[in-house]
Parts: sequence; structure tokens; C-alpha cells
Amino acid sequence: MPITLNPNREKSLLRRHPWVFASAIKSVDQETASGSTVDLLSSEGQFLARASYSPISQIRARVWTFNDEPVDREFFRRKIKSAIEVRQRLKVEGQTNAYRLIHAESDGIPGLIVDRYDDVLVLQSLTAGSEFWKETIADILVEETGIQNIYERSDADVRELEGLKPVTGVLRGANYDLRITIYEHDLKFRVDLEHGHKTGFYLDQRHNRHRVGEFAKDRDVLNCFCYTGGFSIHALANGAKSVLSVDSSADALALLEENIAINRVPADRHTSLEGDVFQLLRKFRDANRSFDMIILDPPKFAPTAAHAEKASRAYKDINLLAFKLLRHGGMLFTYSCSGGIDAALFQKIVASAALDAGVDATIIEHLSQGSDHPVSLHFPEGAYLKGLICVKG
Ligand code: SAH
Repeated sequence: MPITLNPNREKSLLRRHPWVFASAIKSVDQETASGSTVDLLSSEGQFLARASYSPISQIRARVWTFNDEPVDREFFRRKIKSAIEVRQRLKVEGQTNAYRLIHAESDGIPGLIVDRYDDVLVLQSLTAGSEFWKETIADILVEETGIQNIYERSDADVRELEGLKPVTGVLRGANYDLRITIYEHDLKFRVDLEHGHKTGFYLDQRHNRHRVGEFAKDRDVLNCFCYTGGFSIHALANGAKSVLSVDSSADALALLEENIAINRVPADRHTSLEGDVFQLLRKFRDANRSFDMIILDPPKFAPTAAHAEKASRAYKDINLLAFKLLRHGGMLFTYSCSGGIDAALFQKIVASAALDAGVDATIIEHLSQGSDHPVSLHFPEGAYLKGLICVKG
């Protein structure tokens, strides 16, 4: 059954943006099932796209294709094959055995994340459409990658917006370990696929962790929001004088200790601190502590633009404190993974933090998510991770 849009609401589809909001829709047949495939028509009855239907979400339809072609098993096979080919072209396997294989909208499969961790694929289905095709997609993934094990981590909060309950568990394969070791460049990391954040590891920061390593020699490093120590291990392995890692999660810090042990980096140069970064930065300021390098990689403060104002204050707060704690010539590696804050706004927030801290600073590098998390030109929302390397004057 087709969905007809309201007059003048076809514009974003003509620009090949894949989302259709509820307000753009004139009428939907009551019988249309959640996740099923529908034709999207302009108010004049012109075919615009073929999409999945999400009856509960404000994003009521997500485009599978702008062509008049069948959406079937072979359609998904073509999409998955081309996502695999892109990663082969990136030669990502030379650097790591853990990377993103399918990045949702940007790989032409809205709602579907697939990350590869050695011989396990971790699948996250976030929308009614990806849910509808999940079993088919799982079969194709096994056939096209040759990997037998797929573990499902469909437990992200955004599923609620689609009226979907959290689902986790084995989707394909049997008897495989969910605590595994991956490598990134020449370092190893323990990953808990069952309980870890996201699909287990922050794969999107791989390049940025490497970059931290390149600047770390002889530096006193403070790694805030350290999770399982990705940035800390890279810094220690590259000759940091000291590394202080802070996170509020005891489980994450326990894995960080394992990561120090398996990489044989100098444990005596490392300290873990369980606590709240907002409070600890204040404590360090009051105690006149200082560092050569500070990393700020907080969780998503603004999932959508509606949270941007409150989130901006939180980003400004930690960046301001970090500028104060940095020595002259010190480096700030600061990130935001909030969809609701774009790169330009993030830069403004960091600038106003420097201003209020009373320091001069320059940006020496703009950072983003790794290229295994590509961004469709028609879907700028795909560029969620932004970062800056700043040097304090
Ligand atoms: N830099 C990490 C990923 C950071 S994810 C990496 O490269 O792997 C964000 C982390 O912030 C999570 O581990 C979470 O436990 C932690 N966190 C969230 N709020 C916090 C707070 N207020 N204080 C300290 N840690 C916090």
C-alpha cells in the first residue's frame, strides 16, 4: 500500500535524504504492517522512493531505495556486498580485526549497525524496518563474510522510539566466547561483547587513539571518560611519562587493568580513578594539578538537537576546566559524539570555554569518526563524532 505525502513535502526525498517525518504524511492504510515496505508518493501521485514503515516513530518511513526496484533478499545482498567492498578498499584489516562493517543509513541500510570483532559479528537493529529484515540480513551476512557467529546487541535506547523492546543474544552460531581479544594497530584490547558499551568497543575512535599515541612521549596525560582505556594504552605504549585514567564505571576500569596486563605496558606509570569527571576536574583545579595532555571523550550529552542547550553547558564546563589544568603548550583532545551538536557548534563551545578560562589556544587538527563509519553525502547526520586537537598558548 503506498503512502502519500502532503503537498510540498517531497523536497527532502528529492535531495535523497532517507527520512520521512510523520508530519509530511497525508495518509497511510490502516493495514500497513510495522517494518513493511511501502511506496512513497508525492501529493501528485509521483513515485519518490521505496521505504520501511515505522508506525510509532516520528521518523515514520526510512528509504531503502529511490529507484523503482524490488526490496528483497537480493537487494540486501547487494547493499551488504558493497559495504564489505568499501572496507576491503580501506585496507582496514591490516590495522585491526575489529571494525564497523555496516553503518546504517550511510551504507544504505537504515537502522542496521554491524560491527566485526574478529570471528564474531555484532548486530544492532534499531528500527522497525531493520527488524523486519533481520533474519534475512543475518543469513546474508554469514554467506557473504564467511563468519558463522552473529551476536545481537539490539539494546540501544533509541529502539523505544520505534516501539521495539531490547533484544540481546546469539543470532547465529553457537558456543563462542563473548569476552574476546581484538587488536588495534599493534595493541590488544579485551572486549566484553555481552555487556560492553555500544557493541562492545568504541571502534569509531581507532584513528584518534593512534593519534594520541603519536603525541604522548614524555607527557603527563589525563584521560577523562576512559572506558576500557583505549587512549590510555596507546599513550602508555608510546612513552607517556604518566597516565591518569578516569571513569565512573568500575567494570570498564576492571577491563582497563586487563588491557594494561596483556599489552605489557609500564603499569607503574598508570593510575585508574573511579569517579565523576565533572567533580574530579574541579578537585584537580583546586589542588593546582596540571597535565601536558588531556583527553575528553564524554558520552553522548545531546542525542538530538532538543538536548543541545543543556549539553552545550556540560561540554563547556569540562573543556573550560581542562584548559585550566593544561600546562602552557599542553594539548587538549576533545570530542563530542552528540548527534544534536554539529562540528561548527562544537568548535564554538570549545572556543567559549577557552575564552572563559582566560587562555589562548589554537586548533591544530579537526578529527572525526574512522572511515569504516562512512557518511552519506545525503545524510549529514551520519557524521556524529567530532573532535579537535587544541594547543594551549
Ligand atoms: N574514550 C573511550 C570511550 C569513552 S565512552 C574509548 O576510546 O574507548 C564514555 C565513558 O564515559 C564511558 O566509559 C562511561 O562509563 C563514562 N562516563 C559517563 N559519565 C561519566 C562521568 N560523569 N564521569 C566519569 N565517567 C563517565
